[in-house]
Amino acid sequence: MTGWLTPLYGGGYWVAVRQLAAVYYVTGVVLHYVVPAVLPVKSVQKGERRKGQVTAEALQSIGPLLVKAGVWTLVEQLQQRGYTKLYTGWPPDAWQALYMLLSVVALDYLHDAWFYWTHRLLHWRPLYIHVHALHHTSTVPTAFTGYSFHVAEAALVFANEVLVCFLLPLHVGLHRAYHLFTTVIHQGGHAGYEVAPFLPTLEQLVSLAIVGPRPCGALNTVRHHDMHHRFPRSHYSLYMTHWDRICGTEHPKYQADVTAHFASGAGAVGRGGQASGAAQQQQRHGVAG
Ligand SMILES: [Zn+2]
Ligand SMILES: [Zn+2]
Repeated sequence: MTGWLTPLYGGGYWVAVRQLAAVYYVTGVVLHYVVPAVLPVKSVQKGERRKGQVTAEALQSIGPLLVKAGVWTLVEQLQQRGYTKLYTGWPPDAWQALYMLLSVVALDYLHDAWFYWTHRLLHWRPLYIHVHALHHTSTVPTAFTGYSFHVAEAALVFANEVLVCFLLPLHVGLHRAYHLFTTVIHQGGHAGYEVAPFLPTLEQLVSLAIVGPRPCGALNTVRHHDMHHRFPRSHYSLYMTHWDRICGTEHPKYQADVTAHFASGAGAVGRGGQASGAAQQQQRHGVAG
């Protein structure tokens, strides 16, 4: 029954396309239609979505999904020719299993850094106008905004999935599963309500276990990237938030918003961040590096 989705790795281009399409559209339907219907989630967004926005974004995502499948096919070809550090087989001992776990942490940090800096590059005016503006047509994102961007942006954003194959030894199945999961991360980060809290990385899960669900630097939220769609000069991160803090691109009202969110308990503080309308006007449609 699942033969059309397997093997997990090594099945070629069309298996990769089907894996991505299945994960992306099932996740999109669950996040956009099912979760709000069965769980008491509250929107963190201001404004209304455009008529037909969900359908348009679902269709717009096809191009990036095809590009990502192409990237994976390139990875398979490079691995078969022995050019990468990818490896196969089950870990022979506990140390190798531990290494696999640590390689996920390494992937999280590499992926986050790549996303932050390529995202800042995409806000360079020429690239913004011709490429990244397409993603920013959504000021009130949906789960299908996740991969609703230009195919040139897809080639840039997904290039790190090739680069990591040369940087550190990675299990082929882990490489595929991890980058299927990043698809879900992109969708969750645009869902419009807190996945309370948004947990895209292993480190954030550990942080939650240690300090609990309260504001701290290790935790990310859906609100963080959602604000980027209203304040395009803030919040270039998606996975973690440290680059925005280090580089001074965190929105000045973000911490207060998050504190209010956690103080209110599960759910959300209501629709929208607390940033002023003037600040929104100032930053809306703005482009910067
Ligand atoms: Zn976005
Ligand atoms: Zn952007």
